[in-house]
Amino acid sequence: MPELPEVETTCRGIAPQLNGATIHGVTVREARLRWPIPPDLAANLIGRTVRQVSRRAKYLLVDFDHGTLILHLGMSGSLRLVSPGTAPEKHDHVDIHLGQIVLRYRDPRRFGAILWQQGPVEAHPLLAKMGPEPLSADFDGHVLHQAISRRGSAIKLAIMDNHVVVGVGNIYANESLFYAGIHPARAANSLSLSECTTLAAEIKTILARAIEAGGSTLRDFMDAKGKPGYFQQSYMVYGRREQPCLRCGSPIREIRQGQRSSCFCPHCQPC
Ligand code: ZN
Repeated sequence: MPELPEVETTCRGIAPQLNGATIHGVTVREARLRWPIPPDLAANLIGRTVRQVSRRAKYLLVDFDHGTLILHLGMSGSLRLVSPGTAPEKHDHVDIHLGQIVLRYRDPRRFGAILWQQGPVEAHPLLAKMGPEPLSADFDGHVLHQAISRRGSAIKLAIMDNHVVVGVGNIYANESLFYAGIHPARAANSLSLSECTTLAAEIKTILARAIEAGGSTLRDFMDAKGKPGYFQQSYMVYGRREQPCLRCGSPIREIRQGQRSSCFCPHCQPC
């Protein structure tokens, strides 16, 4: 699943080509995504010029004078820049034509979304109640401590809740709790301010490092055959059940939390 770093990498990959570009055409081959693509999308976009491309949580926002195109990559989606005339493959559902280049949306499982918001994009129901961006100055130990002060749920579930902080997916929740030395099942409201400060800092470090690693995949955005923006990294606990902890050698344990797997070191992350 594309996580925040992949979406940020996609954003950085497409922004230089999109910023200031005029939309020449829109081809929708399959409108049935998580929600139907608006039937008037082409009429809304043709002849309009992109003001800027940005990211909020895992949404890509393509901003125009008269509204914002909201894109989500769902479970398996991707965006690539291809040359005009590049034949679409299966699951290439939408092309946005920008003259010399085409922005192509692929989504095999169709859990993604392409939506249009007239007026301020922050008011869109999908974005309106979101917590702070993890890499921004709006998120730190104090903010985290405050946000979870009344939550008795497990800390891992709390940091994956978009109301607390956006874009901390399963991989990054596992890894940041390891680096912070915090057991994933601890009650969120049992964390001290100092623990929250450490955890917030680790979340930032891990996401920033993943985005940096993704930078090397940017060239793929120009390559019709390349795989966009998904990168393999080495992890301390994620996906390492029963393997020795890379810090202390204890076997990594796995538990289920909210239908997701949590891996942790029982020695480095005591209850
Ligand atoms: Zn350990």
